[in-house]
Amino acid sequence: MKGIAILGATGSIGRSALAVLDQHPDRFRAVALTAHRSGEALAALAARYRPALAVLVGGDVPAGVDGATAWRTGREALLEAATHPDADVVLNALVGAAGLEPTLAALRAGKRVALANKESLVCGGPLVLEAAREGGGELVPVDSEHSAILQCLQGARAGDVRRLVITASGGPFRGFSAEQLAGVTPADALRHPTWNMGAKVTIDSATLANKALEVIEAHFLFGVGYDSIEAVVHPQSIIHSMVEMVDGSVLAQMGFPTMELPVLYALAYPERLPYTCRRFDPVAAGTLTFEAVRQADFPAFALGVEAGRSGGTAPAVYNAANEVAVKHFLAGRLSFPGIARAIAETLERCPVAAAHSLHDVLEADARARRCAEDFVQRLAPC
Ligand code: MG
Repeated sequence: MKGIAILGATGSIGRSALAVLDQHPDRFRAVALTAHRSGEALAALAARYRPALAVLVGGDVPAGVDGATAWRTGREALLEAATHPDADVVLNALVGAAGLEPTLAALRAGKRVALANKESLVCGGPLVLEAAREGGGELVPVDSEHSAILQCLQGARAGDVRRLVITASGGPFRGFSAEQLAGVTPADALRHPTWNMGAKVTIDSATLANKALEVIEAHFLFGVGYDSIEAVVHPQSIIHSMVEMVDGSVLAQMGFPTMELPVLYALAYPERLPYTCRRFDPVAAGTLTFEAVRQADFPAFALGVEAGRSGGTAPAVYNAANEVAVKHFLAGRLSFPGIARAIAETLERCPVAAAHSLHDVLEADARARRCAEDFVQRLAPC
């Protein structure tokens, strides 16, 4: 029986994880559940799964919760959940750079981190790898693309891999012209064609910023250089990613899009457990197609990969600028092309520095946020 701590239990990935727990109550039990502000939803989950600890990071403990679960609030309590003594696996499904610190804490405590928070590696890749080495913790990806790559790598030896090919759905605006892209609304961007996800990652998927974050994530997870990682648009989202071996063989991992399978794989790894979900049917899947990423029309992608190559604080700056820009786009204060412009200007104004500590990363993150806020203010002063 593995104890599971779920950071971000009320979100989309958290719900997928609980669906996995429902099918394997004899293998996994929830020992800690956290949410940001959704107190009522977390109370309902606590009543059902009876974790030892429930954490509401940004709110007050809801009235009427029973005594079977200890309730805590605040940021420190999130770290308590990430290092809970009964947790074997910490599923980090937090959104944004806020996920880095709990990842570091869990790895230093020797936990397996099932990582759905890609910003942990994007903002603090070298720090995360160091924390895993120091604490004896282990990183297993939950992002569907990285789960696919990990699965393709089973049985591969060092030196076998030539190239990683990360697939992208292309988002809802795949075929849009530059003129069309200038006029899209948040509601348009939130209608993802193949994946059902939270708002932030859905917008990132539309701008292809998500794919840049995933390239950086793959670089750190698999130790592969940026020249050997490519992204390709695959609108059907059936092939979740591919690995090309040095002999030219290409392995792909396939299935209908659902986050439950990557979560299950990360919890059970290296085991495979039976699971009931929609079975893959190649005939129903039909034709699989591939297209190049339209880098000129989706500049957030190349900006992100370039930030990854620059290293140091650059990926954290990229990520922070993107988080701010997406927030303003969702609020109607920034156009869709404005997201990439905010990122580009922030990267220009925040010179790359070394990222030796969490402090360095958080400082770069805060500065980039001020820069990006400033850019939006100048466009649309309140
Ligand atoms: Mg993904």
